Amino acid sequence: MSTIDPAQIATRAGARFERDVPLAPYTTLRLGGPATAMVTCTYTDSLVSVVRELDAAGVPLLVLAGGSNLVIADTGFDGVVVRVANPAVQIGGPADGTTDGTVVRAEAGAVWDEVVAATVSAGLGGLECLSGIPGSAGATPVQNVGAYGVEVGSVLRRVRLLDRRTGNVHWAQPGELSLGYRTSVLKHSDDALVLEVELDVTADGLSAPLRYRELASALGAAEGERAPVAQVRECVLKLRAGKGMVLDPADHDTWSAGSFFTNPIVPADRLPAVLSAIETRVGADIAVPRYPVAGSDAVKLSAGWLIERAGFHRGHPGTSAPARLSTKHTLALTNRGAAATTDLLDLARDVRAGVREAFGVTLEPEPVLVGCAF
Ligand SMILES: Cc1cc2nc3c(=O)[nH]c(=O)nc-3n(C[C@H](O)[C@H](O)[C@H](O)COP(=O)(O)OP(=O)(O)OC[C@H]3O[C@@H](n4cnc5c(N)ncnc54)[C@H](O)[C@@H]3O)c2cc1C
Repeated sequence: MSTIDPAQIATRAGARFERDVPLAPYTTLRLGGPATAMVTCTYTDSLVSVVRELDAAGVPLLVLAGGSNLVIADTGFDGVVVRVANPAVQIGGPADGTTDGTVVRAEAGAVWDEVVAATVSAGLGGLECLSGIPGSAGATPVQNVGAYGVEVGSVLRRVRLLDRRTGNVHWAQPGELSLGYRTSVLKHSDDALVLEVELDVTADGLSAPLRYRELASALGAAEGERAPVAQVRECVLKLRAGKGMVLDPADHDTWSAGSFFTNPIVPADRLPAVLSAIETRVGADIAVPRYPVAGSDAVKLSAGWLIERAGFHRGHPGTSAPARLSTKHTLALTNRGAAATTDLLDLARDVRAGVREAFGVTLEPEPVLVGCAF
């Protein structure tokens, strides 16, 4: 590390400084070795000055918020972890002087589900399908979080960024972020830090149109219909809990990073070969879940379905393994309490190889891997 003292930088900025910090407790997987140091920033101004100064000094830096999309190596991180913990949220207030009270403004460190809950309590619609997603508001544009037919990109008004290459702070429009399926220019990049997000919500107490069949039918509604926001939130939380997708410290099925693999997008010219491999393995009379990809003739398949059909069942490889597939959902890789990151990555490697061998499809990890690979 550089001779610049991160402790002094933190103290000047009014941030908390700690040395030799185990990172496992800061991740939902409860995995990862120590960081050389951690600086916790509870104010946006401190976040800006700490990151600017550490960047200027060339100090290796890892941005961490809720730790729900991170797989950190057992050797930890040789550098400074900057913990994003600026929590302020403004619901329905004036944002840029031109709004009608249907804008939510959240600092990056705000807990995302608390933002959603507050909008639902205020009778504002738009975010309810994204209920129960762990982590911070600031991380939502990073991988364009999505669930139950809604992606954050569809409600994002603008994002306040620290450009880490220039040190400038500016508001960026969603169109500048290349938001896609679980991706954006912010993911796997150190170019920018999200400081705040602004989201558009609706004031009529109704949800976004229900585009996800499982959710619509659980609500007894037709696809495309809108429903009261509180009902939709409650239903989403129930559906998610049934899959181990709502954090619960007592339930090891939720000691995960959520879906470990993204749903694979298969180009049209590769699709016949993949479908034929599926037919050989599971038979011709099985309907293969597949979804169109906007603006392309490629097709999105279900990673969870492929994993199961390749022979990996819930709880694989069995009760003696420290890292296992969730017992509720094959797409979540979980720490049963005593796992190391290497155990989780061995399991990931095993699953990826099995799916590739069975169907010729290579699954890609959804979380960000720090200091490790598989
Ligand atoms: C049980 C469970 C269920 C999940 N369900 C879903 C789901 O339904 N849909 C979905 O999309 N995701 C889901 N996830 C993944 C995860 O919750 C989201 O990706 C979430 O947005 C990550 O937020 P975080 O604050 O925990 O980010 P972290 O894990 O702390 O960081 C993730 C990445 O974002 C970067 N980052 C964090 N904050 C900032 C910032 N302010 N500026 C720039 N970069 C930043 C980090 O450096 C890192 O690279 C789930 C995870 C779990 C554990």
